[in-house]
Amino acid sequence: MPDVLPDADWRGRKDLDRLCEVLGAQEGEARFVGGAVRDGLLGLPVKDVDIATLHRPENVVERIKAAGFKAVPTGIAHGTVTAVLNGWPVEITTLRRDVSTDGRRATVAFGTDWVEDAARRDFTMNALFADPQTGTLFDYFDGRADLAARRVRFIGDPLARIAEDHLRILRYFRFTARFGALDRSSPDYAACVQSATSLMALSRERIADELLRLLGLPDPCEVIAAMVEDDVLKPVLPEVNDLGVAVLATLIRAEHQQGIAPDALRRLAALLPLDSGLAEQIGARLRLSNKARQRLRKAITLVDATSPEALTYRIGPESAVDQLLLGRAFSPMLAPKIATWPVPKFPLSGGDLIAMGLVAGPEVAKTLQALEQSWVEAGFPPEGQARAMAAQMIKGWLK
Ligand code: ATP
Ligand code: MG
Repeated sequence: MPDVLPDADWRGRKDLDRLCEVLGAQEGEARFVGGAVRDGLLGLPVKDVDIATLHRPENVVERIKAAGFKAVPTGIAHGTVTAVLNGWPVEITTLRRDVSTDGRRATVAFGTDWVEDAARRDFTMNALFADPQTGTLFDYFDGRADLAARRVRFIGDPLARIAEDHLRILRYFRFTARFGALDRSSPDYAACVQSATSLMALSRERIADELLRLLGLPDPCEVIAAMVEDDVLKPVLPEVNDLGVAVLATLIRAEHQQGIAPDALRRLAALLPLDSGLAEQIGARLRLSNKARQRLRKAITLVDATSPEALTYRIGPESAVDQLLLGRAFSPMLAPKIATWPVPKFPLSGGDLIAMGLVAGPEVAKTLQALEQSWVEAGFPPEGQARAMAAQMIKGWLK
């Protein structure tokens, strides 16, 4: 583990130096914090940069504007202002401490004490500060040692910290799946298990957001398995059992083998029993969009299709890929091909059939449907052939 924040691409991003300068980094008034420092120390790519500063939010807005950047008061009551540098958002938060908490939201007071600000953060690895210019680290809670040991450790008493904000339970599992070595004998883990039912007090949006972020990681399987076994997922998703975890493991392997990017919704579908009614229930519980609910439903509904292409024609490439990778149809090996397969368009319309001699009426729609099915089963032949099929079918019907 390096002693200072290593230099990396993100630190050279256009205007970042200038932003730090106007926030008083030279005078020690602004520091990098959170994910950027943690991921930077691990040599991982950094996308989002958070800056902590001892200036008040209104003053932060003034400074950002004076430097010619756009300032967005994203969470001004909590002390957060977003500076937009060439379309790239950087979050700047005034040093604060939590005055009162109820497990869901905090009332905060602004301060000028770095240690106090570090102490209100969740895990030691998330509470590291770095001087933007020198890269000097400020590590008040041994975050570096924990990071080196891949230990996700609460700052202070885990149970108390979870009581302040229940979302930290899910964050614990997410950071463990991302960086940590899962240690089921740690007090941090025990506290999360013990407090699991408090998850029910959180807003569904926050739960869903954290859960989907966890599921979207490269390999959350070990952590999810532990969460299921120790009933952490139960208050949120009682439907999930060992079988779902096994499907998840198979899915992750298949995604990896086929070079297909992780997808949180597909992973969620893996965990659920094959019951299409569940999609609506869980979609409502997690406040998923209609599009997401539909995707979930298609992923947990078995479809009777004669070929991978026929399946794709029916449910669309995205859902067909879901089914293939989930091992619910044909072979996962077909997923890359199906993902980019140009779905053909049925070349005939009701008008075509009428022009071919069919009398306008309910027969038209019925014939069209039957034709479409034969066309799919015949492997999507071109228009000429489709017309020949239509002529033959109509001849048969008119007889
Ligand atoms: P990611 O890469 O997932 O964005 P991050 O560490 O930047 O990781 P954020 O959710 O962006 O995480 O939060 C930024 C920082 O704010 C965290 O590193 C942590 O110090 C603090 N933080 C965020 N959420 C909480 C919370 N619920 N309780 C305490 N501190 C938190
Ligand atoms: Mg972040």
